[in-house]
Amino acid sequence: MTRSILALCLAPLAALAQAAAPAPAPATPAAAAAPTETPAPADAPANTGGKATTKITYSQCHVDGPYIAMTFDDGPHPTQTPRLLEMLKQRNIKATFFCVGQCVAEYPEIAKRIVAEGHEIANHSWSHPLLSKMSEASVRDQIEKTHQALKQAVGFDVKLFRPPYGGFTERQRTWANAAYGYKIILWDVDTLDWKHHDPAQTEAIALKESKAGSIILQHDIHKTTIDAMPATLDALAAKGFKFVTVSELIAMDKPVPPKPKATPAPKPVASSKKGAAK
Ligand SMILES: [Zn+2]
Repeated sequence: MTRSILALCLAPLAALAQAAAPAPAPATPAAAAAPTETPAPADAPANTGGKATTKITYSQCHVDGPYIAMTFDDGPHPTQTPRLLEMLKQRNIKATFFCVGQCVAEYPEIAKRIVAEGHEIANHSWSHPLLSKMSEASVRDQIEKTHQALKQAVGFDVKLFRPPYGGFTERQRTWANAAYGYKIILWDVDTLDWKHHDPAQTEAIALKESKAGSIILQHDIHKTTIDAMPATLDALAAKGFKFVTVSELIAMDKPVPPKPKATPAPKPVASSKKGAAK
């Protein structure tokens, strides 16, 4: 029985792997094609309009301090999520969990524990389909069922949504924001943990690509991902990063300064230093 539940909850993964295959689905903008498509490209144009409109989609934030958000998708998983929660607790690190509704329905107690231990929990659809290719009614169903499953488990309305594979049209984003107040959360660091299943690579990518304001994508349904976490978390902390939830990161988000290229400092600084002969 446990096995069948597991199979159900891991099913999204299989779908993910399939969707990961080449098939460059031309219908929607590039982002929809792959699960962990390169740094969420479809996101950028939507955000950088420079208009005074409220920002809905985030693939990273612009913050003053060394803050980053670790995010874990596709759970709750009956064994891996609790393992991760222990590691986070030991380090007093808060993370964000984008949960699949059908797994929340199977493991509501883990969803509850995620929140009880100070982490953020959020919507990642009901069964992990590529929403950008689905009918409006099906998309609503995927999101609503998960919203309600989460509400039943944790007792409040969650505030964030991450579309599986990052595939979500502009129109869908606008609707989800209007209907639920959702911010749409993508990522700027993709550890590709679901693909290589190599703890060392997960750690190496997270360390190499994370910068202040980063939203880091991982999956708490893979043993190899959780195996990578003690070293990854400790190394990121050693580099000076501070861990916050996605909503905390968004709260610190600042508009990107229009054109910072006015001061190309390098040359003058270098020459004046030489001149000063220190
Ligand atoms: Zn996912």
